[in-house]
This record gives sequence, structure tokens and C-alpha cells, in this order.
Amino acid sequence: MFDDLKNKRVLVTGSTKGIGFAAALEFAKQGAVVGINSHVMDAAAEKAIAQFESLGINFAYFKHDLSRSDECAALVNEFVETFGGLDVLVNNAGGLGVREGLENLDDAAYDLVFDLNIRSVVMTTKYAVPHLKESAVKSGTTSAVISTGSIAGREGGGPGASLYGGSKAVIHNLHRTWVKELTGSNIRFNVVAPGTIDTAFHEDKSPELKEKIRNSIPMGRFGTSEECAPAYLFLASHQASGYITGQVIDVNGGQMCP
Ligand code: NAD
Repeated sequence: MFDDLKNKRVLVTGSTKGIGFAAALEFAKQGAVVGINSHVMDAAAEKAIAQFESLGINFAYFKHDLSRSDECAALVNEFVETFGGLDVLVNNAGGLGVREGLENLDDAAYDLVFDLNIRSVVMTTKYAVPHLKESAVKSGTTSAVISTGSIAGREGGGPGASLYGGSKAVIHNLHRTWVKELTGSNIRFNVVAPGTIDTAFHEDKSPELKEKIRNSIPMGRFGTSEECAPAYLFLASHQASGYITGQVIDVNGGQMCP
């Protein structure tokens, strides 16, 4: 249905495991040139790099903690120095940060969650915009920003995840304003909002809680990272989604119907 991701320069943040890794791998399989990223060179990063190398993928790994603005800028600069430009930005780095009820929240928790989930998206996108503008002019089509929101951004997080859910709601909302500011520059902004996806994100949950969540999903199971990846490709492709911007696409097995 679309074949225009070949040779596109795609930066996927938070992509050494889980949803980001699956998306980066699918972009690469479409012939895209891919930048992968994490804040630590851990076992997951080593495994991801080894897998990309073994598949002969044109990629580079960038270690940056995107909860810091200077590191967001450095990531974009290094990607552009390496590949000569940027056509698609996927803001995926993020996480729960803390699981703590309102009465126990403090400044450290606030900063941790909002820096990880909001500062990372705002600042990485800010530094990417000049390159995305240039990409759109050169291609005569659109460039794309796709960020990972969440079902929690629509419904609120579970108990102890109010900052997380709130931060994802901010992401959903930011994109709608950026559409108003930057559609004239031919950049499209969309969000993928996963439901409950079987990744390290849920490793702190008990088997009982996981079963309870499964029972709340009409499809009766958690989703997989691989099931999320195609939504990112669709939203990155001008051929497939050139008239789609400012949208939130839910990938959640029917867990929530907006
Ligand atoms: P994951 O823990 O499997 O992967 C997270 C990735 O982000 C890893 O590569 C990690 O190294 C990287 N990362 C973490 N902090 C970072 C930082 N400060 N700077 C750069 N990279 C960093 O998690 P996942 O479940 O694949 O989550 C990916 C995204 O999807 C997150 O934004 C998360 O909030 C969102 N999400 C996940 C679910 C779910 O059920 N798994 C549901 C909705 C939304």
C-alpha cells in the first residue's frame, strides 16, 4: 500500500526494547535509515545493537537521557550529522517513573515523570523541527512527528499513576497545537496511544493484577510491541497518511472506545 519509507531518515527515541524497538525494526525492514536511542548502554541496548547489526541494517545508536533538554538537542544534532538530515521523528522514550498516590507525591516525583515524558517530547521535537521543515521542502511532501501517548492519557492512569496519565494527556494535547503552528511547514503531528502492551513497563505488576487487566480488555490479552509498530509506519508514510494530522490512534484491543 505504501513504499515511500525507503531511505527515509527516521529517529526513534527510547528504542532499545519494547514498542520503540519493534517500531525501529519495522522502519528498517521498509528500507528506512534508523537512529535508535536509550539513556543507558544496558543489556537491552547491547542486544538491540547486535540484532540490527546482524540484519545488516543501516542504523546508528545514540546514548542520551532525553529527560534533559541539552541531551535532546545533542541527540538531534548527532543524528543529523550522521545521516545528513531527518525526515521522521518518533518520540517514544517515556515511562511510568513513579507509582505513588497523590498524598505521597513530591517535587522529585513530579520532575522525574514530567521531564521524562513531556520535556523529552517538547525539546526533541523543538530541535527536530528545522530539519523536518527542510525535509518537507526537499521531498515536496510532508515530514512527520509521531509520539507515543497512552490509553492513560485519555482515561487517567491507574492508582499511583496520576502524573504518568497526566503527562500522556499533555502529549496528546501538545500535538494539536503544533498542528496549528506548523502545518504550513508541511510537518504532520500524530500520536499512537497504546493500551496495555506486554513490555517491561508492566514488570512491577503482580500476576493477579495482570489477570484483572486482561479481563478488562475485550480481546482478552495484552497487546504486543509488534502489533503497535505498523501504526507508526502508517503515520510516517506520506503516501498512506499525507492528509492525516493532529490525530490520536488507539492500539488497545478495544480496551477503551473513545
Ligand atoms: P520499555 O521500558 O520496554 O522501553 C522503554 C525504552 O525507552 C527503553 O529503550 C529505554 O531504555 C528507553 N528510555 C527510558 N528512559 C529514557 C530516557 N530518559 N531517555 C532515553 N530513552 C529512555 O517501555 P515500553 O512499554 O516499550 O514503552 C514505550 C513507550 O510506550 C513509553 O512512552 C510508554 O509510556 C508508552 N506506553 C507503553 C504502554 C505499555 O503498556 N507498555 C502503554 C501505553 C504507552
